[in-house]
Amino acid sequence: MTATAVALFTRDLRVRDNPVLTAAHRDGAVVPLFVLDEGILAGGGCPPNRAHFLAAALHELDTELRDIGGRLVIRSGDIAEQVAAVAAETGAAVVHIAADVSDYSRNRERRLRDRLARDHRELRVHTGSLTVIAPGAVVPANRDHFAVFTPYFRRWATAERRPPLRLPRHLDLPPIEPGTLPRPEDLGSGDRSPGLSTGGEITGRKMLRAWLSHGIHDYARDSDALAADATSRLSPYLHFGCLSPTELVRRADASTAGGAAFVRQLAWRDFHHQVLAARPAAAWSDYRDRAIRWRTDEQAVAAWTDGRTGFPIVDAGMRQLRAEGWMPNRARLIAASFLTKTLRVDWRIGARHFLYWLVDADLADNQLNWQWVAGTGNDTRPNRVLNPLRQAERYDPDGVYVRRWIPELADLDGRAAHFPWRGGAADYPAPIAECPGM
Ligand code: FAD
Repeated sequence: MTATAVALFTRDLRVRDNPVLTAAHRDGAVVPLFVLDEGILAGGGCPPNRAHFLAAALHELDTELRDIGGRLVIRSGDIAEQVAAVAAETGAAVVHIAADVSDYSRNRERRLRDRLARDHRELRVHTGSLTVIAPGAVVPANRDHFAVFTPYFRRWATAERRPPLRLPRHLDLPPIEPGTLPRPEDLGSGDRSPGLSTGGEITGRKMLRAWLSHGIHDYARDSDALAADATSRLSPYLHFGCLSPTELVRRADASTAGGAAFVRQLAWRDFHHQVLAARPAAAWSDYRDRAIRWRTDEQAVAAWTDGRTGFPIVDAGMRQLRAEGWMPNRARLIAASFLTKTLRVDWRIGARHFLYWLVDADLADNQLNWQWVAGTGNDTRPNRVLNPLRQAERYDPDGVYVRRWIPELADLDGRAAHFPWRGGAADYPAPIAECPGM
């Protein structure tokens, strides 16, 4: 008789290179399980953009599982109770889950372990699913994590890593009522961005193929060029685990300039995860307390969130965020610097807005990038200020990006679109702050 194991999916929604699925499959029959976790959903943890992406990703995961003889089993409610019930129903002795870094996920892990132990069942936690190098696998002397990226990257680049895992050829699923795949509205309510990308491993792999055969070649040169839209847009697929970072690093040719630059960005992702794993409180508290006195200015915050600050390069990014649930890194940097360094508004206010709208919203990457920009995080130059006008001239020299997102600027040619206060833009607000170079 073969044993049965539960593969509990969380944010590793793929069948390829999935340590959880592979380990469960090794045990014998597999119950691929996803629980609509009331602990996340009731707390508003799944805003509309992510709800749509997640619902689509679960559908694609179910399709992929069916192709190899399985299907996705869905339950909803308290995650520990639901997993225990499925394990009892199917006689699974072991539940496999991917390691994660937030306080919530660690607490979830503890609750699952304790609940399963009561029934003499075991929880096995797999590192190396969420990131290429597991948090804590490389550490400096006398510390539990790296606080600066460059030395981390040196160690990361030479650290031992596992090879990508093979897709299981066939899954045996024990008899079980599968439950119903959720609709987006079962996960979170509200309006989504009209230009949102579609979630899932099938869609993510199509994008990855296109990226590796075309986009990546010019990445080192163009990744910051706002009009070029020349980054991979794979971040939501990485956040939900529809794609494996281990596979991405393996397939990107790091001997080319584009491949090397792309791999370096993936290392940034691992870097932030190892910081948050070691300092979970940094999700909402200053990683480095610099005693900054933030300003309260509700009108300025409203102008910022609505993309009506009067600075086109800031507003274009903020409008793209609403329209697509995504922004390029350069636009995120400019918008975050404007809020925290120009308006002197607390980074947590901006981070919360991004967490609501970004389809790739990720506690490690979002909060720690915000802190990096605000000067409370891992930047070795915490006082740097990104002047929005200089950034505009450098990264959108012909004004193409700002005209794409701000129709009020359509009549301003070339770089004039970055200086609407000099005339020619009706219906566009006056700047809400002063800034050198106006
Ligand atoms: P690419 O340029 O194609 O990069 C490839 C991958 O590398 C990305 O998909 C991402 O996983 C990783 N990556 C790239 N840049 C960074 C970075 N600076 N830090 C960590 N990982 C990186 N990224 C998120 O995934 N989720 C977030 O919530 C998030 N919030 C951010 C907030 C601010 C204020 C800033 C400045 C950056 C934030 N980033 C976040 C990082 C980065 O902007 C996005 O990962 C990137 O824009 C996603 O687009 P892409 O997939 O085309 O990236």
